[in-house]
Amino acid sequence: MWRSTIAALEVVRGALLPARCLQCAASLREAAPLCLSCFRLLESCRIPARELPGLTVAGRPVIAASYYRSASPLRAVHRAAKYHQNEGCAKWLARYMARRIHLPEGVEVYTPVPSHPARLMDRGLDLAGILSQTLASRTNQVVSLDLLRRHTLGTPQDELDRRDRLSNVESVFKAGKQTLSPLHVLLVDDVVTTGATLDACASVLEAKGHTVALASLAFRREIFRLSQR
Ligand SMILES: [Zn+2]
Repeated sequence: MWRSTIAALEVVRGALLPARCLQCAASLREAAPLCLSCFRLLESCRIPARELPGLTVAGRPVIAASYYRSASPLRAVHRAAKYHQNEGCAKWLARYMARRIHLPEGVEVYTPVPSHPARLMDRGLDLAGILSQTLASRTNQVVSLDLLRRHTLGTPQDELDRRDRLSNVESVFKAGKQTLSPLHVLLVDDVVTTGATLDACASVLEAKGHTVALASLAFRREIFRLSQR
């Protein structure tokens, strides 16, 4: 009885935004993950239009809303969503992304970079899926959660250096159970470092005849290769 009550409270707590700023721990009067000054700091990490699109290692253009700098409050909100199952933070990030990126023309279906089922079970929340659903709902279009499948668990990309990231995602993605006639697909991820994961997923979709555009919540600026350099 008590266990189920505690579990239910955990679910409710995970759906709510925190009462304190996740970056500086200031008390918040409104439901938000950041106080006003930390939100302003986050806004200073927005990617200028002249620096978009970035390029993946294979040269595919990719857009994003923000840089994932070491001092950016985005990191605290992202961690709460991705690693601590805070659905309120995940939805806040999705709304933030949807308001700040210019979606490509002609997208017909949205799909997230898939996580391995075991990792999803462990994390309890599909952040890329929530980002995709929010973007799709903004344009009254559909999201497919089964166009791609990750069949190998592998090491999380954020634990590897640049060279190992490339080999880590080779052959780990396959086409999912859902088959669609060729469409213009927007492939969505949360944080892009080299773009190797996006390239691996895009290759699978392109082999099925789809054309693919790429979008992410954030770029890790320090190692991401920008088209303007
Ligand atoms: Zn703050």
